[in-house]
Amino acid sequence: MGIIKIKDLIYEYARHDDEGNVESVVRAVDNVNLDVKKGEFIAVLGHNGSGKSTMAKHINAILTPTEGTVWIAGKDTSKAENIWDIRQSSGMVFQNPDNQIIGTVVEEDVGFGPENIGVPTEDIWKRVDDALRAVGMTAYRHHSPNKLSGGQKQRVAIAGVVAMKPQCIVLDEPTAMLDPMGRKEVIATVRELNEKEHVTVILITHYMEEVIGADKVFVMDSGKVVMQGYPREIFSQVEKLKKYRLDVPQVTELAYELKQEGIPLTDGILTIEELVDELCRLKLKI
Ligand code: ADP
Ligand code: MG
Repeated sequence: MGIIKIKDLIYEYARHDDEGNVESVVRAVDNVNLDVKKGEFIAVLGHNGSGKSTMAKHINAILTPTEGTVWIAGKDTSKAENIWDIRQSSGMVFQNPDNQIIGTVVEEDVGFGPENIGVPTEDIWKRVDDALRAVGMTAYRHHSPNKLSGGQKQRVAIAGVVAMKPQCIVLDEPTAMLDPMGRKEVIATVRELNEKEHVTVILITHYMEEVIGADKVFVMDSGKVVMQGYPREIFSQVEKLKKYRLDVPQVTELAYELKQEGIPLTDGILTIEELVDELCRLKLKI
């Protein structure tokens, strides 16, 4: 079994009337199956309202299934006695860094999580040091989080999760509120955590460029996983992605349009280098 296993997950939000009777039900996640191996970098794409956040909240046991089962590091999230272990195995980073930072000094904020779970003081400092180094924020340890840029704040939020030493981190649109520079910083940080520290990553995002380096991509629509595969497999299916109201990376879009115009390019070009290589190859043939 993988570090994250989701089997036949259904989640329904119920709306109640004044007397507490169920008035209506929204099925936000509809029969999702997902198996993530340790150390993998998984990207989840999907239009607004497709069920990504609802699914993500199951990985941290913020929500538990209406039907189906979710196991994190082998523990069933629906069992109350597992919650403590699950919250330590799997950390979560949300969209708005301002809602996640509580300390008035960076290092204090990062140490808050480990302190909360009873890590001895001398170990807390070691964890804070390591976590700040891992996200490249050591130089800011004595700063006030309020004065940092959005990207830096989000890196501090990630350090706070890293300090808990989780096996996996779920990031729910962590770059949605950042400028392009901040987005790059955060994604580079997440990639490094995955490559160097072997943290399993689930990255939920709207930005196609952030998905290119993932091991596997899942596309959600109306609560269901509608596509899954390697980034190249997913991005070769431009028409299908458009049907789910998603874009492809800019270079992929350009290559797709050139192909429509009759230039015989391969499907699923992901980087500028690949496009340049292909075009040079074609020129040689002419
Ligand atoms: P995404 O993260 O992909 O935008 P969500 O998981 O937030 O999708 O939402 C999936 C569906 O569940 C949407 O139809 C949304 O309106 C509904 N939903 C989300 N949160 C709630 C809630 N707290 N109460 C009722 N419905 C909700
Ligand atoms: Mg969401």
